[in-house]
Amino acid sequence: MKTIKKVPVRIEFVEEMPFDTIRENVLYVNKKTCRMRHNCLCGCDGLVDIPLSSINDNGEIHNGEPGQWHLTMKGDKATITPSILNMPCNGHYIITNGIANLV
Ligand SMILES: [Zn+2]
Repeated sequence: MKTIKKVPVRIEFVEEMPFDTIRENVLYVNKKTCRMRHNCLCGCDGLVDIPLSSINDNGEIHNGEPGQWHLTMKGDKATITPSILNMPCNGHYIITNGIANLV
């Protein structure tokens, strides 16, 4: 897969998910519910809500439903596996070490 563009992203851990104050390139993560919310990084402005199977915040582990995405923090840099593919815009990105690679 060829990288179309690279977008730096930032994680913000929140107690309550924001709804109308979602900033660009910020991934909001609720550790209690193991969910992540952000505006699609392709630029379409779509709201993306994904469940996480695990959050590893520099050794502090939180577990959600199995079979979903994994978030690992190294310092303040996020890695999320597997890649995120959004419908209907077809935005597809891999987030590694705080950078989203749009493919
Ligand atoms: Zn999109």
